[in-house]
Amino acid sequence: MFEDTASALFGVEGLQVAGVEAAPDGGIEVWAVTAWEAARACPDCGTVSDRVHETVVTRPRDVRRAGDAVDLRWVKVRRKCGNQECLRKTFTESVPALPPRCRITARLRGQAAGEIAERGITPAEAARHAGVSWPVVHDAFAAAADPVLDQDPAPVTHLGIDEHRRGRARFAVDEQTGEYTVLADRWHTCFFDLDGQQGLLGQVQGRTADDAAYWLAGATPAWRDAVQTACIDLCSIYASAVRRMLPHATLTVDLFHVVQLAVKAVGDVRRRVVRARYGRRGRSGDPEYGIKGLLVRNLEHLSPAQFAKIIDTLDCDRYGQEIAAAWIAKEKLRDALNLRARVTGSTPCERAVRDRVFSFYDWCAQHDDIPELITLARTISRWQDEITAAVLTGITNATAESLNRLAKLEARQAYGFRNPLNQRRRVRIACTRGYRRRSRTATPRRAHPGTGRQPDPG
Ligand SMILES: [Zn+2]
Repeated sequence: MFEDTASALFGVEGLQVAGVEAAPDGGIEVWAVTAWEAARACPDCGTVSDRVHETVVTRPRDVRRAGDAVDLRWVKVRRKCGNQECLRKTFTESVPALPPRCRITARLRGQAAGEIAERGITPAEAARHAGVSWPVVHDAFAAAADPVLDQDPAPVTHLGIDEHRRGRARFAVDEQTGEYTVLADRWHTCFFDLDGQQGLLGQVQGRTADDAAYWLAGATPAWRDAVQTACIDLCSIYASAVRRMLPHATLTVDLFHVVQLAVKAVGDVRRRVVRARYGRRGRSGDPEYGIKGLLVRNLEHLSPAQFAKIIDTLDCDRYGQEIAAAWIAKEKLRDALNLRARVTGSTPCERAVRDRVFSFYDWCAQHDDIPELITLARTISRWQDEITAAVLTGITNATAESLNRLAKLEARQAYGFRNPLNQRRRVRIACTRGYRRRSRTATPRRAHPGTGRQPDPG
């Protein structure tokens, strides 16, 4: 294939290395000539020509060699077409890696696009490294990414829906009333494959029920029918979109957000009580302030000394008892959530979950003088079916949350995106990177040749 060792090492098919020199800036200068039979044929009529019109030297950009820039000097021959009837009088040689008018090698474009897609760097950084401009690298990336992303997603059993903000919200102050009005607050709604190999399935601009339903409506009816469970945060907008477009699917809510709500209620009660007791906000030195970190922890993760500290602090007066009631409400709610199979190791029964949720309501009703608990109980009762379904199925939005983190990281690395299309492309490539890598390195599972047993997973 290659004429000599130097050409083989250089590795551009059709180019023969004629000489290598050290460039003044520390890189290397590679002089090459064409060694490609087909380059001698006229591109219009196909007549092979040996008549040289002139020689030109072009300097296409190429990949670095061992970190150093490579200055490629390709000595091209402009030939005369021998066919009298051909309209093209002369033509210049070209090879597949460097088509006519192309000033960047295909492998440099491929490398830059691959670095953005697989290493997660920005097009600006890839362009600096490759020594070409941002639009060139961006176009190469888009050309490589779009065919991958345009494929329709494979069927999904558990669908996750989450949102993230696009850019910063912008406000204006009303001169007369002094109130803030929102000028722009842009969001992306994202759809995730919670248990499969597809990561982020797609995104849509906005976060209304119509926006989410619009994306779901774009999927095929067979794809929608395959969705068994849809997991959302405690967000009624997405619940209505799921009920409209996936009426057969079980709706579940992410239990992390349920616990977060209860923890927030405990914090709200503590802050209100501290203000009522001292007439100011809490500060270090207050007994309530000393246990605020312990109150948000799970009961089972407290040491006996920490547990005793909470009891000693809260048991002394009515203010403390109010915080204690909220804390117990949180733990009662967690009792219900802890029935899920991941914690207990056995499939929970619906009756038991509903009993424990009822016990939580009962506790809140006994302490109906605490407004935060009434609000919490109302919210939980609104989502009771979805919470029960989440405990029974054990499905969480953890995958969606982790991919959402990646999506936000991508926006930070880019210092924000102007173009929402570019953002969606970059985010989707980032959120499917790990899955692509895993599917590439995955080896089929084989039984152990000696024992016939399956290898130990993990
Ligand atoms: Zn010709």
